Order: sequence, then structure tokens, then C-alpha cells
Amino acid sequence: RVPVSALLQRPADAIVRPQAAAHPKIPLPCDLFAPDRRNSRGIEFGERAALDRLLTDVRAETARLEVIADASPDQASAAVAAARAGFAAWSRTPAGGRAAALEQAAHLLESRGAHFIALLQAEGGKTLDDALSELREAADFCRYYAAQGRKLFGGEAAMPGPTGESNALALRGRGVFVAISPWNFPLAIFLGQVTAALMAGNSVVAKPAEQTPRIAREAVALLHEAGIPKSALHLVTGDGRIGAVLAAHADIAGVVFTGSTEVARLINRTLAAKDGPIVPLIAETGGINAMIADATALPEQVTDDVVTSAFRSAGQRCSALRLLFVQEDVADRMIEMIAGAARELIIGDPSDVATHVGPVIDEEAKQRLDAHIARMKHEARLHFAGHAPEGCFVAPHIFELREPGQLTEEVFGPILHAVRYRAENLERVLQGIERTGYGLTLGVHSRIDDTIEAIIDRAQVGNIYVNRNMIGAVVGVQPFGGNGLSGTGPKAGGPHYLSRFATEQTVTINT
Ligand code: NAD
Repeated sequence: RVPVSALLQRPADAIVRPQAAAHPKIPLPCDLFAPDRRNSRGIEFGERAALDRLLTDVRAETARLEVIADASPDQASAAVAAARAGFAAWSRTPAGGRAAALEQAAHLLESRGAHFIALLQAEGGKTLDDALSELREAADFCRYYAAQGRKLFGGEAAMPGPTGESNALALRGRGVFVAISPWNFPLAIFLGQVTAALMAGNSVVAKPAEQTPRIAREAVALLHEAGIPKSALHLVTGDGRIGAVLAAHADIAGVVFTGSTEVARLINRTLAAKDGPIVPLIAETGGINAMIADATALPEQVTDDVVTSAFRSAGQRCSALRLLFVQEDVADRMIEMIAGAARELIIGDPSDVATHVGPVIDEEAKQRLDAHIARMKHEARLHFAGHAPEGCFVAPHIFELREPGQLTEEVFGPILHAVRYRAENLERVLQGIERTGYGLTLGVHSRIDDTIEAIIDRAQVGNIYVNRNMIGAVVGVQPFGGNGLSGTGPKAGGPHYLSRFATEQTVTINT
């Protein structure tokens, strides 16, 4: 591990903006972006005319958002049967061929970047910078899994032994993988799941979130165009009921699920109750993610990172900050600065480039968040409430809790809960984080190496971010995924992910 002291000596830019630094070569979509023009948030803009074209596209996409019919249970079963039939040919396609199709998909995504950005804004309510990051992440997943797949599935590994036998170990696809995804990354997570399962030699039945079927439909069409056979990849639209039908199907060989902990448990039970083969579940779920900011942290940096982590993307990221532990000595000043910065956020139409915080996904989400805000107004101290326009918007809020146990579930929106702690009680803070049962992301802001090391050693959390924001994990750079209530552990965008979709076969030949 790189010592924390080495990280702290790096210039702030290298710590704060790894995403831009990590992918300097990925072409940006169309002629919208030019390297010489930057807005205050680091996004590069080109000609005003190109931007206007994009906005016209977004409006056209919004007008075209037709209702996509839900599949019936019979259609879901037929998709599994067709994927089962497609498995034999696809699993025998050499890894190089499978990888080439994914690389072509990345290329197609980028060359149609403006279209997918418009779609992400129209159907997913994404701001321009969120849509751009998501497009980049989707292309990264395709290329990264292609590169990993070439290595892992490109041939057998010889296992030399002391006897006169030859031994070889190979990875193979399992069969039909069901991929169930959420609405909050309707392109990147959807494609990440599907391409990982395909690269490992499985055929796939993909069930996107009911809120974002059109993005999924276009992503599947793009994969087919890139060279994935139609028999190997099938789309089934619908809500959780159709997801449940797929999970219960007798002929599936695995499920990859990203979404809430509650639904992961339901799927787990369904799989466990089935007769026949034991079917593995890869689950990536939510979190009550914390950040610890001590009195040595740089207040401006904490402010910037808290606002980014808690409020950007309207707090609708699984990695988003929910619980800020701030050392008592600096708590008043820190909370005041964070509230001041939150006051500057522009909330509204995601297709307006000035917008920082777009809508929440639907009316149901808004009602849930409004109810939480109403409850917190009784049970906690309100430090800040922003102003949201009419419609499906929730303004950023900052509450102060007496103790962390007051937050008992993941609140998937732009609501920050602060808790004061005394320096001598850091252990209690760590226990409070542990008691949530989740283990997805953790932020640490401190200039004391021993404190940072102690927290890292102690925390049972999948992704820890020190002295930076805690969102936007970069594929192949910050493998992402959590433990405990946050998931079964595999790291999307990491070197071990693909093997979780495969079986291993050892062949021993007496020579
Ligand atoms: P959700 O659990 O409500 O739905 C996710 C998917 O599961 C959807 O496609 C839905 O239709 C389907 N589904 C619902 N009930 C089902 C059932 N009984 N059987 C099978 N499938 C069913 O989650 P959501 O609201 O779409 O997404 C938000 C959640 O996702 C948050 O909890 C967030 O933290 C989590 N998330 C986690 C990660 C991660 O990588 N850990 C990433 C993004 C989102």
C-alpha cells in the first residue's frame, strides 16, 4: 500500500480529480467539448452552437420517450430458454472474439456520445457532467473487461506438479446469467454487468430498472451491432415482479444484481429455495456511508468534498455521503462552511448546463425523501434547507443528529446528517459506522497519518477515500463494491471481477 504520507505530499489536484487524470485519452463525444474551454466545474465546453444542438437532442429524446411494454412471465421464460440455446456457441467463441465485440461497443458508445448523453438526461434526469461521466464509465467497463477477459479467458494456466501428469486450469462461462440493474446508472451499471457476464462466456438475460428501459434497449441494440450475437444477449423489461420471475427460473446459472439490500435478500432467498444446482449471486447494494473529518483537516477541502459527495447527482449514488462525523472543536465552523457552499448549488433542469443538482428519479422517491426530511425536522437539528423548484426535485438539507443510530436506513437523496465527536471518542465513531452493518464507502479527512492508518486498518468497508471526495470510482483504478449489507464483495471494475462470473475447470492428463 502507498503510505498515506506519500499521498498527502502529492499536489491537491492529483488527489482531488483522479477521474480526469486517469483517462486523458478517451475521446470526448462529438464536437461539443474542446480542450481550451472549461467551466467552473472542470467540464470542457466547445462551441455554443454544438451545445445548443445537444439541448435540442435532449428535448427531442424527451418527446420520444415512449412507454416500453413490460415483458410477461412467459416472455421472460422464453428469453431464458433462448439464452440457454445461445450459450453453447457464445461460450465457445474465443476470448479474443468476445473481447473484440466489447471494444467495438466502447467505440460505438463514444462515437454516439451526444445521443447517449441526451438519453441519460431525458430518461435518467442526469446533469451534463453526470451524463458525461457515466458515458465514460460505460465505455471504460467495455474496454477494461475486454482487456481482463483476454488475459483470464485467453487460455489455460499450466499447473506444474511433481507427477508425470499434465495439469491445466481454465475458466469457463457458467450458463445463463441474469443481470438485474438499478436506475441510478442506467447505462454504466447496466453495461458493466452485462459485459462482465458476456466476457466470462455466459449468455445473458438483462432486466434493467423499470424507470430506465429505453437506455437499456439502446445499449442492447448497440452490443448486438458491435458483434454480440442476438442469441447470447436478451433484454427483458419490467419491474421487480419480472426480476423475481427471472431469479426463480430453473435454468439460470447465476444472478448479478445491483440495487437495494432488501431486494438482494429477496433474490438470495429465491435462489436458496430452488431445487437443482446452487446458483451464485453477485450483489452490489447500498450503504449508510460515512466521512470522518477531524480538526486537522483542511476546511475548504472538506467543504468541497462533502458538498460533492453528499449533494451532487442529487445524492442518488450508492457511494454518496450520508453521515458526516466532524470533530467537535471545528464542527460549528465546518457545518457553517458546508451550508454556505450548499447554498450556492443550482437545483433544476438537468439539461441546463448551469445546473448542479437535477431531479430525483420519480415521484415515489420524492415522497420518500420528503417524509424523511419531515421526520428529521422533529428528531434532529436542521442546519440548512435549500430551495427546490416545483416538480420532482428535492433540495439539499443538512441535519445534525445526536447520535449516528438515529439514521437507520439508506436515504437515497441529497440529505446530509452530521454528528459531532470528541477526538478521544474516535473508537466510538468507528463502532457507530460498524453498527450500521453496511460497508460500502468511507471518507477520511485528516492530516495525521496515524489517525488515517488506524481508520483504514479498522474499517470493514469496500472503498476508502482519504482527503478527497468519495464518489466516482474509476474503472480499473478504484475497483468498486462493498461488504456486509452493502454486497457480496466482488469489485466491479477490478481485476478479480470476471472470475466471479465463471466456473473453474482443472484437467489432469496422465502423460
Ligand atoms: P431496487 O432494489 O429497488 O431495484 C433494483 C432492480 O431490482 C430493478 O431492476 C428492480 O426492478 C429489480 N427488482 C425489484 N424487486 C425485485 C425482486 N423482488 N426480484 C428481482 N428483481 C427485483 O433499487 P433501485 O431503487 O433501482 O436502485 C437504488 C439502490 O441501488 C440503492 O440502494 C443504491 O445504493 C443501490 N446501488 C448500489 C450500487 C453498488 O455498486 N453497490 C450501485 C448503484 C446503486
